[in-house]
Amino acid sequence: MTTPELDQLAMHCQQLRLTRVAATLPSLLEQAAQTEQSYSAFLTTVLHTEVESKREKNQMMRVQMARFPFHETLDGFDWKAQPSIDPKVIKELATMRFVANGANALLLGPPGVGKTHLSVALGIEACRLGLRVTFTTAAALITTLGKALYENRLEERLKILTQPKLLIIDEIGYIPIDRQGANLFFQLISRRYERGSILLTSNQSLGAWGEVFGDAVIASAILDRLLHHATTVNIKGDSYRLREKRKAGLIRHALVNAPADE
Ligand code: ADP
Ligand code: MG
Repeated sequence: MTTPELDQLAMHCQQLRLTRVAATLPSLLEQAAQTEQSYSAFLTTVLHTEVESKREKNQMMRVQMARFPFHETLDGFDWKAQPSIDPKVIKELATMRFVANGANALLLGPPGVGKTHLSVALGIEACRLGLRVTFTTAAALITTLGKALYENRLEERLKILTQPKLLIIDEIGYIPIDRQGANLFFQLISRRYERGSILLTSNQSLGAWGEVFGDAVIASAILDRLLHHATTVNIKGDSYRLREKRKAGLIRHALVNAPADE
């Protein structure tokens, strides 16, 4: 191919915003010549290159917009270290069928057992599948809603929080929620009920939510909606963080209440 031809191709790619094709054009052409590809096979390779690039960019944008606290994947989860979790259940959640059905998921368990890790990993999987995701902690969410109420913009904020297909609310139960916070939380849950999925983590058993929300009636109204269509994963065991430290000999065995046979 002559230089003017290549220049023109590069310009067309630029005009059509085919950025990856533009960047890989010489190697795509070389490969086609070497393997004597048919016209249709070559065109498929070219278009596939660009489709993949756009998909990756989209996923990256979704991950950024979701505001995850860190990046974790399901591949990075040590299932053997956490026998109380059935990997099948998490892998089913990872298909995002529950999101398609407007259902919810709850990950419950003591600190350090991987709740946030799994919720981030599932969130990233949702982004990969093209879904819009928002990650927040319960405390940040309630602060945001309280501020919106104060500024007379609650409706606007609730609408924004209803938009993502998956809303991840991490750490319910660490900080007690006051009456106004409980009320605002209930409004959000009602808004999303059967419209958008919630993935929620809590260090408290559901029976203790009356105390978390400072009101048994509102807690049961929240749970009623959350649990109507939901997968609940009860995680047991000792903290992975402490376990790692224990392995490294940094803390004594008894401190982390580990099974005697370990
Ligand atoms: P939780 O949210 O339940 O308190 P985290 O998800 O924050 O716990 O886990 C604490 C740390 O331990 C994180 O760095 C997380 O990646 C890691 N971790 C927990 N469980 C596992 C596991 N089974 N495999 C790999 N890493 C884990
Ligand atoms: Mg956590």
